[in-house]
Amino acid sequence: MNKKRIYLDYNATTPPAHFLKDKLGEWVDQWGNPSSVHYEGQAARALLWQAKEHLAHFIGCHPLELVMTSGGTEANNMAIKGLYEKYHSKHPSKTEIITSVVEHPSLREAIKYLETKGMQVRYVPISNKGELDKNFYHSVLSDKTFLVAIMHANNETGHIFPIANLAKAARQVGAIFHSDMVQTLGKMPIHLHQLGVDTASFSAHKFYALKGTGALYCRKGIVPNNLIHGGPQERKRRSGTENVLRIACMGAVAERGNAILKKFQSLKALRDQMEQQILTKLAKAQIIGQKANRLYNTSAIYIPQIDAETIMMNMDLKGYSFSVGSACHSGSLHPNETIMAMGINSTSARSVFRISLGIYTTKAEINSFVQDLQKSMDRLSAMQKQ
Ligand code: PLP
Repeated sequence: MNKKRIYLDYNATTPPAHFLKDKLGEWVDQWGNPSSVHYEGQAARALLWQAKEHLAHFIGCHPLELVMTSGGTEANNMAIKGLYEKYHSKHPSKTEIITSVVEHPSLREAIKYLETKGMQVRYVPISNKGELDKNFYHSVLSDKTFLVAIMHANNETGHIFPIANLAKAARQVGAIFHSDMVQTLGKMPIHLHQLGVDTASFSAHKFYALKGTGALYCRKGIVPNNLIHGGPQERKRRSGTENVLRIACMGAVAERGNAILKKFQSLKALRDQMEQQILTKLAKAQIIGQKANRLYNTSAIYIPQIDAETIMMNMDLKGYSFSVGSACHSGSLHPNETIMAMGINSTSARSVFRISLGIYTTKAEINSFVQDLQKSMDRLSAMQKQ
């Protein structure tokens, strides 16, 4: 008998929203090039604009403040490198960048690239509870700060950082503030104008839409240099014929964004119940940073002395999908860097796995997962004793 698989890795990617199947069939007929002035082109252009309006409305900005990209990685790169190239030469005394130690590699590596250009980087540490060291942040923020880049919520642990306050302080010293919001879109209400960030990145495939699309929000008046040259698209900010179908999907999900947020609220009870069951059934288990402000869907679970990768593979065979580290790290044996940044050593970090729930997760799935996890753990412990 084919058992239905249970997907618990929504922070890696989400299944597309069910209604998109019908919509895709409809939109595939709007195949025109949105830069063409004839009928087909204008139909595609209208679809594109409508999608941007929905997305902008959902995240509290103006559609003209959005540059559509190929995803979160490109948006982060465009922000970090594009802001540097556009503005740094006008402020040569601003030689420092502040970022956290737990950023996604797409942001971290872009910042490392700027180190090769002579920028000095200050890394804000994280406590063992998962909280950003605000005292350190304020102590390094100065007139020398060119750019601050801090994520809204962490993909591995779900910890949420106080972006509005951090951005306000950055503004006071004349620094630009970028935030990677890939993990908060559809998980928390976002109002960009109220948050006061200058730029922010988003990705469609973490938001029940399709892979290969994302957006960079650039506050009115902020125009990072292009990463990609060669055409007038996106008001000359990102060249290349737009990925109309995928952008339309992202917009359509955003149009239903409030319903997604509402459903997401109910995940807190499900996640807490799962954690409680795990803590009760598996005596040694711990939830990393359980008490800190976390996304409602994410649990980083530490079970001392187990190899999380073995558990993951074992459970995969039983029909459950979850991850050890982010999807970008899978296939590599490096221990999870976010977990190590919280002061957990590399051996223990190999005993941490991540469960991330989503709007299609059910109570029955969670109960089944915990039961099978316990069975797997019992079997592994028995094997270790032999
Ligand atoms: N930022 C964060 C926090 C992420 O979790 C991810 C994906 O894992 C990205 C950026 C990259 O987004 P994309 O997969 O759209 O390039």
